[in-house]
Amino acid sequence: MPTDERQPIRLLDDVTASRIAAGEVVERPASVVKELVENSLDAGAGTVRVEMEAGGRRLIRVIDDGRGIPAADVELALARHATSKLRSADDLDHVRTLGFRGEALAAIASVSHLTLLTRTADALEGVEVRVTNGRLEGRRPLGAAVGTRVTVENLFHAQPARLRFLRTDQTEAGHVTLLVMRYALAHRNTRFELVRDGRTVFRSTGSGDPADALAAAFGLDVARELIPLRAPPTIRLAAEDAPSGPRVGGYVGPPHLHRATRRDISIFVNGRPVTDGALVHAVVQAYHTLLPGGRYPVALVMIGLPPAQVDVNVHPAKTEVRFRDARGVFAAVQRAVRAAVTSGAHVPGIREARAWPPPAGHESAPDAQPGLLASDGAPAAGGEWGAGTAAACGPPADRLPPLRVLGQVGLAFIVAEGPDGLYLVDQHAAHERIVYEDLMARPAERPSQRLLVPEAVRLAPDLAGLAAEHAALLAAVGFDMEPFGPDTVLVRAVPEVLARSDAAAAVRDVLALAQVGRSGAGEAMEERLVRAVCKRATVKAGQALEPDEMRALVRRLETCAAPRTCPHGRPTVTVLTLRDIGRALGRG
Ligand code: ADP
Ligand code: MG
Repeated sequence: MPTDERQPIRLLDDVTASRIAAGEVVERPASVVKELVENSLDAGAGTVRVEMEAGGRRLIRVIDDGRGIPAADVELALARHATSKLRSADDLDHVRTLGFRGEALAAIASVSHLTLLTRTADALEGVEVRVTNGRLEGRRPLGAAVGTRVTVENLFHAQPARLRFLRTDQTEAGHVTLLVMRYALAHRNTRFELVRDGRTVFRSTGSGDPADALAAAFGLDVARELIPLRAPPTIRLAAEDAPSGPRVGGYVGPPHLHRATRRDISIFVNGRPVTDGALVHAVVQAYHTLLPGGRYPVALVMIGLPPAQVDVNVHPAKTEVRFRDARGVFAAVQRAVRAAVTSGAHVPGIREARAWPPPAGHESAPDAQPGLLASDGAPAAGGEWGAGTAAACGPPADRLPPLRVLGQVGLAFIVAEGPDGLYLVDQHAAHERIVYEDLMARPAERPSQRLLVPEAVRLAPDLAGLAAEHAALLAAVGFDMEPFGPDTVLVRAVPEVLARSDAAAAVRDVLALAQVGRSGAGEAMEERLVRAVCKRATVKAGQALEPDEMRALVRRLETCAAPRTCPHGRPTVTVLTLRDIGRALGRG
């Protein structure tokens, strides 16, 4: 806000400076957990226990059995820019710890009530300090086990603006759960436990065995299908650059285990989870042509690089990195993933016997269990669905079982009974799938309907350009039209599935739908046009259907090759199993 008078320049006091820095480091409960867990790992912890209450808003507590902080250093650890992990600026070029900026504890303490209890092995007792909104409130000696326990209460209680940005407890807890699982996968020798509102929702064994960690994080059914990545053979140009290339390890899912979102793609660089659009893209690209459009694989990719090859000091939350040789890293990731996916060899050693620890998240936090549900709460095709039968008869059954139609709810969903429970079919999404498979199956004979009177349709300039550019493809999907003056086309025929609708609106809609995301995934224009036609052609939510129509629609869906998603990747059907129903009615 501009002021009338010029204000003198002042150095900010420490509390204010920390609070500003906190804005970058601490965005939500999961960011607090991330920093505390990284500190525990840096302290050499063998066990890390994370507790949260009310999605982390009321309480976050991280307990470790690491080295602890010497009593004399405790206040220093809470000060800004205080770290035991760097000695000089040069150390920044080869960071081997997860932390190094020395600001996380100070930042967290400035926006919460923080209590830290710690003891080193050579101390007789521990020391506890309390900090409220960045101000040291008290210090006392206290009996404690060797290690550190940090309790963060009432996060953002004095920052109402921040509080407003938090989502529901369920969502915030989901982020924390995903995060803890990712660390458990990348740090398999450390035992992780996550307790949510008093219940253990996740536990890893810390055995170092990938099979254990994968089963704990993904659930047995998904873990069983994962394929290990092997480091691709490196081509050595000169003896001296031998060990400098990226090492790529981890696990990826087979193509039939796809998801509606990218959230089951986790990428680590030197043990640090990173968000890197380009790396995620490299993984997705490796599945090119193997996944339906708009679907994403399950992948855990761990990249190892000499610290000098990667700059980790790009972002305060340390979730972004910069590579010296980014292209080399992406290429290595893509090659490793593609090789694994096409080889199809599963992780050895994941058997029924490894069912412990039970994937507790399955019941208590379904939104947080990677591999079970997509983030929008929709069943992920091939994951939960076919999982029960996956082991017995090869790839999960993506096909639908025979369904008995019972009726319609909300003028949008068809209710049906199947062998395992109650099926709800999204009538619009299902119809889109059916029309799509029809049109894609017989590209040469897509029927078209002549208009009685050709219609001149005026288009927005960008759509007119699109129509001119893709005239042949438009003809291939069933449009017959030609340029007719500036930004106008003369429409003689439309795809038969659109015959009942207004021709001008159909042309505009299809072009506009096909235009969306044009520069995106590099998907063929023809397929986009077909999907646009489907979207326009199909029964909408809000349309009452006769029992016969519903039965016909469900029969057709059963014969589809990929009946469980619409061409845009949304689920067509969800199931309430008899177990779900029983549990909801207190019989479980
Ligand atoms: P950074 O991790 O970047 O050094 P932090 O603010 O997260 O900065 O922590 C400051 C210092 O406090 C660390 O360098 C470390 O010496 C000490 N510390 C923090 N958490 C722990 C822990 N769980 N166990 C042992 N030492 C810790
Ligand atoms: Mg730290």
